[in-house]
Amino acid sequence: MSTDTARSSDAAAAEQGGLQLDARQRSMLQAMGIRLWEPDFYKQNTAAAQQNIAGAAIKSVANRAVQEALPTVAAAPTLAPAPVAAAAAAPAAARAPAVPAPTAAPAARPSAPVTLQQRPDGIDRMDWLQLQSAVQGCQACRLCASRKNTVFGVGQPSTEPSLAPRADWLIVGEAPGENEDIQGEPFVGQAGKLLDNMLRAMVIDGQPLARHSNVFIANVLKCRPPANRNPSPEEVAMCQPYLLRQIALLQPKIILAMGRFAVQSLLGSTEPLGKLRGRVHTMPLDAARTPVIVTYHPAYLLRNLPDKAKAWADLLLAMETLQPAEATPS
Ligand code: SF4
Repeated sequence: MSTDTARSSDAAAAEQGGLQLDARQRSMLQAMGIRLWEPDFYKQNTAAAQQNIAGAAIKSVANRAVQEALPTVAAAPTLAPAPVAAAAAAPAAARAPAVPAPTAAPAARPSAPVTLQQRPDGIDRMDWLQLQSAVQGCQACRLCASRKNTVFGVGQPSTEPSLAPRADWLIVGEAPGENEDIQGEPFVGQAGKLLDNMLRAMVIDGQPLARHSNVFIANVLKCRPPANRNPSPEEVAMCQPYLLRQIALLQPKIILAMGRFAVQSLLGSTEPLGKLRGRVHTMPLDAARTPVIVTYHPAYLLRNLPDKAKAWADLLLAMETLQPAEATPS
């Protein structure tokens, strides 16, 4: 190799960053008073490298924050895109200023005070549409203050809104829970799924029952008691005329009363549910003498699986009562 070639090779090496010093070596040279000449490309590369180091540091901090926040998640393979929580954990100077912070969810506001009003007159003369509207605007008990929606009931929609849906079967539960309150429909969630399965298991005239066909599902209370507490006797009494009018308009052939509060409201009995099962009842306030079968609430059955067999016996009794010759379990 000639001298020129060697020089140009050194120059090339220098120009290409041949003098490769790490940060520690560079600070040592500076401390010793040795000033370094750096080509522009080297400055740029160094700046880029420093950015990479800073980026790696951010990732490292973010990584640690994610791992601390999710201790049960094993070996998360990647951090991109960085979670908001992780970015917040990075040092303030390293946070990207252009990323707007997510807007915090507004704090839940306490319910506005509600003035209770009398229940509308003439409930016993209302048609289906008027009844629905009366329930929707009802402020006759304090449950109206905390409800999101009233839960009127669900069935096969009628072609004429003022007429009740056609329903041979009426299922009466207790009160809306959280999901029912949000969706405005009774028996949703796990208890609703179990009820749907129970209905499907009953075959009438060759057709399994279903919530939108020949069945209407309602509750004793049309509004959710806060935190799913038990309804008070006053609330049950205040809401009862709506349910009685629903029964009068629906004219079901049979009623399944599910759970203690449905039984107490319909039969006016405080006997334990277990003692009322296995018999056919009628409601004291029902001129049509519609048969009522008492059974467990699906939410109770989810917690007490052995009682499902008893509930199945109740459904068989209901089918036998309705159509002695034709009803068959699936
Ligand atoms: S629970 Fe019944 S009586 Fe009470 S506000 Fe609701 S609809 Fe009216």
